[in-house]
Amino acid sequence: MAPLVEVKEVSFKYGHLQVLERVSLTIEPGDFLAIIGPNGSGKSTLIKIILGLLEPTEGEVFLFGQDLRHFHDWYRLGYVPQKAAHMIDPVFPLTVEEAVSLGLLSRKRFPRLIGRADRPAIKKALETVEMAPHGERRISELSGGQQQRVLIARAIVSAPDILFLDEPTAGVDARGQDRFYGLLNQLNQKGLTIVMVTHDISVVSRFVTKVACLNRRLYFHGSHEEFCSSPRIRELIAGEDHIIVHRH
Ligand code: ADP
Repeated sequence: MAPLVEVKEVSFKYGHLQVLERVSLTIEPGDFLAIIGPNGSGKSTLIKIILGLLEPTEGEVFLFGQDLRHFHDWYRLGYVPQKAAHMIDPVFPLTVEEAVSLGLLSRKRFPRLIGRADRPAIKKALETVEMAPHGERRISELSGGQQQRVLIARAIVSAPDILFLDEPTAGVDARGQDRFYGLLNQLNQKGLTIVMVTHDISVVSRFVTKVACLNRRLYFHGSHEEFCSSPRIRELIAGEDHIIVHRH
């Protein structure tokens, strides 16, 4: 099958600051890919480039075989951003259902109204993340783990082919995290391709199928088995916050 995402020799600068350097990466259907690297290593920037939110300084990105510059089917990509605090602001009291319905806007044309016809999709997304009984509640009243599951529901309500998550468990307690990764695993087993950005190497453990190590450049991209069986990688990651292995 053709790759869902192809990043080809992408570089990016914020002003003079080189954040990404000639990064090439392919995401295949069914992957559960963890993009790992220390803080400031360019992980969020790479995701934002793939989502068309930032334009690469050099290089190209193809989504579903199409040049990103001509791509319009954004509903096929779900995104759980790192900073979704505006969704959870107690001053802006969004209910769970309202928050999830926002995820449908990318499928709509003007006038982008949410109507009765959208209810089954919203219900299904909430059922998937086991939040259906909480649809009427304010997001601000929920626990960190519950809020995170609502954000997933919002990202999957448009039935995307691929789900991107940026540091998804910040502010979620250990029990909430287990449940959260269990949910991601289930979605992946059902065929959803998942790309998760994290600086926490321990989450790479159980469910991911592939790992990419980024620190401005891509230092490793391969299967989870290869990643785990490389003593050099383990050693370096255990010892330091910096990933300095060259495998490409
Ligand atoms: P990560 O997600 O790996 O923590 P980022 O992609 O967020 O890394 O950031 C990479 C680098 O780019 C960091 O040095 C960060 O300070 C810088 N950076 C991020 N966003 C901006 C911005 N809007 N303007 C200038 N520099 C930025």
